[in-house]
Amino acid sequence: MTAKTVFQRIIDREIPADIVYEDDRCIAFKDIHPAAPVHVLIVPKQLIATVNDVTPADEPVMGHLFSAAKAVAAKLGLAGGYRIVINCGPDAGQEVMHVHLHLLGGRKFGWPPG
Ligand code: 5GP
Repeated sequence: MTAKTVFQRIIDREIPADIVYEDDRCIAFKDIHPAAPVHVLIVPKQLIATVNDVTPADEPVMGHLFSAAKAVAAKLGLAGGYRIVINCGPDAGQEVMHVHLHLLGGRKFGWPPG
């Protein structure tokens, strides 16, 4: 059996996290190494490893992550805007093989990203 991802262990309450939102399909918690004043990870409860593993059947849950992001951004007061990032694969620096949105806010962001 494949070892659980760290995010699955957070979902299963095996390790602690600062959870800011949860529903039946996803969980959102603060990144342990924040890159902005607000840095929340929004993770589907269903294991999808990377964007490359998304299938048409996953479209409802993937879309739901964006609804959750909007709710989290409102809850955390990001009225001035925010950035959503999804890293996919080694060139993008994906570390945890459980697909997730990074919701970043509370400061200005440059473009293009690094
Ligand atoms: P990735 O590089 O895969 O897109 O992002 C993984 C993110 O997960 C990183 O920003 C990293 O700081 C965060 N992270 C890794 N392990 C933990 C953990 O145990 N708890 C929390 N809250 N965040 C984690």
